Amino acid sequence: SLRSRASFKLLDLLKTHPTLIKKGHKVLDLGAAPGGWTQVAVEAVSSRGVGPLAAGARFVGASISPNSPAVLAEGLDSDTAIPLLVRRSDNGGRVIAVDLLPIDPIPGATILQGDMTHTATQQKVIELCGGKVDTVLSDMAHSFTGSRSADVARVLDLCETAFSVAERVLKPNGNFVCKFIRGEDDQDLQTLLESRFTSVVFDKPLGSRTGSAEAYLICLEYIPPITATET
Ligand code: SAM
Repeated sequence: SLRSRASFKLLDLLKTHPTLIKKGHKVLDLGAAPGGWTQVAVEAVSSRGVGPLAAGARFVGASISPNSPAVLAEGLDSDTAIPLLVRRSDNGGRVIAVDLLPIDPIPGATILQGDMTHTATQQKVIELCGGKVDTVLSDMAHSFTGSRSADVARVLDLCETAFSVAERVLKPNGNFVCKFIRGEDDQDLQTLLESRFTSVVFDKPLGSRTGSAEAYLICLEYIPPITATET
């Protein structure tokens, strides 16, 4: 069953933006622990897609065992919880998940532990991507300090880190999502993203706590910059 409440935010984003992750896509998931988004992404790239999961799943805050905190679909007991895909899809779909923290294995995902702000980790991630990916997701966040301006700045830094990696691994027309808190200094990032994607919108998925400032920037259809060598 699903590993974290966060899964439902990604399910909701996929409902609103269905082209974000498609069957057969390659997805890079940054800030992935404990793996809720990764589980949803593995389903979304699989040959059956996210439909069955989206149709049945609803967070009810249940935990079936202390060792494997799990989310049960409403009305189901632990034996009938939504089964997740248990093998890597054979349609080219692939998910690479990275976090500072360890992530328990997720069938169908390649997991890497590391700090995305470190060049060495970025290099490893680019290698693991083995060519270009269709979608880069970043739910990266530090534990909040309580100071809104400090939190906004730190999340913005992580967005910039995620985007700098995305620029190196995204296919033309690829997609990028990052966790974002609206603040005073975010205009530069937004302007940059608007110059690189056909569409950039804010979205606050249903799974986000009411009252929290947390939202996501959804950037669709990457337009790679024209480099000097190509002109
Ligand atoms: N999307 C996850 C899920 O569905 O289970 C939840 C992610 S949680 C909100 C944010 C994560 O970002 C944390 O696990 C944290 O360790 C990670 N993170 C923060 N800074 C990071 C960094 N520099 N590199 C990698 N991961 C980072």
